[in-house]
Amino acid sequence: SAPVIALDGPSASGKGTVASMVAAQLGYHYLDSGALYRLTALAALRAGVALDDAPRVAALAAALPARFENGRVFLNEDDVTDAIRTEEASAGASRVAVLADVRAALLARQRAWRRFPGLVADGRDMGSVVFPSATVKVFLTASAEARAERRYKQLIEKGSAANMPALLHDLQARDERDAQRSEAPLRQCEDALQVDTTLMDIAEAVNAVMAIVEE
Ligand code: C5P
Repeated sequence: SAPVIALDGPSASGKGTVASMVAAQLGYHYLDSGALYRLTALAALRAGVALDDAPRVAALAAALPARFENGRVFLNEDDVTDAIRTEEASAGASRVAVLADVRAALLARQRAWRRFPGLVADGRDMGSVVFPSATVKVFLTASAEARAERRYKQLIEKGSAANMPALLHDLQARDERDAQRSEAPLRQCEDALQVDTTLMDIAEAVNAVMAIVEE
């Protein structure tokens, strides 16, 4: 089957940017698995379904009318690229992600992304659950402070309000929820190589991952 590069790590570790750039360099497909959890949360919020109503949220996840096109994300005909990045959708994603039925509902959809010439898959459980047979597994991380600072800069660049202590607090709460949940908790796989990007810029992080891939 087609090669898979599993790129897991905590939120705001730069995974998304690094994964999509590695995919572009290799000419591979790119799976943003977090977007599926974000889309599920958004679909639930819009349908008025409680985020802890496992059967109903899982039903939404199973039937998610999602489309990825030229870096944009659609729910039906609706461009939700920005809507899935709000703090509300981020927090919602990590809440629906604790539900086993939701994770199961998204499994086949994620695995269908494994196509030639290859796939770079970004998430929390790419190496552990979705693609345990991945060719290369990388755990991309950075200190919580560095990650909060990156998010802060992104928000400021967009002209949004940003509060560093609040961002750090939210990030740590999300890390905690991702690490402590019983379903596919976030942790580094035994066979994953760690890349700590605390002191790296994006180009350096991409090069570090490429060096592992090319080994
Ligand atoms: O990666 P991203 O920040 O977009 O993911 C949003 C949320 O979705 C995460 O906080 C996590 O709770 C959940 N998630 C997950 N498994 C994945 C990807 C994301 O549980 N493979």
